[in-house]
Amino acid sequence: MFKEIFDTYNWEEIKQNIYSKTSADVESAMSKTQRRTLEDFKALVSPAAIDYIEQMAQLSRDLTLKRFGKNIQMYIPVYISNECHNSCVYCGFSKKNNIKRITLTEEQILKEIKEIKKLGFEHILVVTGENDLKAGVEYFKKVLPLFKSEFTHVSMEIQPLMQSGYEQLIQLGLNTILIYQETYNKNFYKNFHPAGKKSDFYFRLETPDRLGKANINKIGIGFLIGLDDWRTEAFYTSLHLNYLEKNYWKTKYSISFPRLRPAAGEFEPIVNITDKELVQLICAYRIFNENVELSISTRESEKFRDNLIKLGITNISAGSKTNPGGYSVFKESLKQFEIHDKRSPEEISEIIKQQGYEVVWKDWDKTYN
Ligand code: SF4
Repeated sequence: MFKEIFDTYNWEEIKQNIYSKTSADVESAMSKTQRRTLEDFKALVSPAAIDYIEQMAQLSRDLTLKRFGKNIQMYIPVYISNECHNSCVYCGFSKKNNIKRITLTEEQILKEIKEIKKLGFEHILVVTGENDLKAGVEYFKKVLPLFKSEFTHVSMEIQPLMQSGYEQLIQLGLNTILIYQETYNKNFYKNFHPAGKKSDFYFRLETPDRLGKANINKIGIGFLIGLDDWRTEAFYTSLHLNYLEKNYWKTKYSISFPRLRPAAGEFEPIVNITDKELVQLICAYRIFNENVELSISTRESEKFRDNLIKLGITNISAGSKTNPGGYSVFKESLKQFEIHDKRSPEEISEIIKQQGYEVVWKDWDKTYN
């Protein structure tokens, strides 16, 4: 399990090591033709690498074109429950927030699906809070077939489950699970996740192991940008990715870059990342790993997302609502967080095409494999 490897690393040592990387380390990492190491990755996310951002962007672009071609896959999230037994300090759905709690019925989900299908999507991301009683495995088993009958690729972002729970959902056609560690800094994890099951750092950390053992098609990992030093978080994400690829080699992987956005409770990010640094991070992941999918959501601004299309991103969301029932049945319910890019899927699609890229609505695993 990843825990055994994770426990051999020390956050402060890794951080110091990253901050001490030099231009020579960056140049060495950039010039390699064989697979890059974790030491190379440290150099690529180090402060020293910011002076190489143009070269990194070019290399990231070339590697992405080589592996993925000129394709950007579109997806849309649908929130089906805001029930949550956790109290993450940065989230509008925290159980501490006095909001109207909603878990969509099958009938309401069908209405949401009908609205979303009008937009042309074939890849949907089903999102819930984390509440085993109100939206647990039995609920997922009821609603997953509704999505599977209308979408070629169904991803879910739900509470961590046991392996058997995942196996039941995979049998019903589940393709992907997104599970973010939020922060890999064990010492501060509880400050942000003080109560509920999510306060168990290791149970969350080992979720991708349970998914790998369940033979899932794809796992999305990442950290929440804004809680701790992003460079060190990125190192641990790459360490995790390396481990997963080695141990569950049949599974595909994606990385997302959720940057903290305003939400009910008004939590302020502890650390900030500039747009330039976020580009550095995206390029570093691509240069480190040519096969991983890189996904960017509507948390980011219009201009910034437009510029990222050619830099290494493979998946992009559009037209997103972050409230349960947001597309049709409860348009005014509380959002998990404010999105930034509010353009329609059609507009985003046009922008992708203008940059010479193909918009992929269907899952490309099925289209190209
Ligand atoms: S981030 Fe997820 S687990 Fe935490 S309070 Fe929000 S919905 Fe619940």
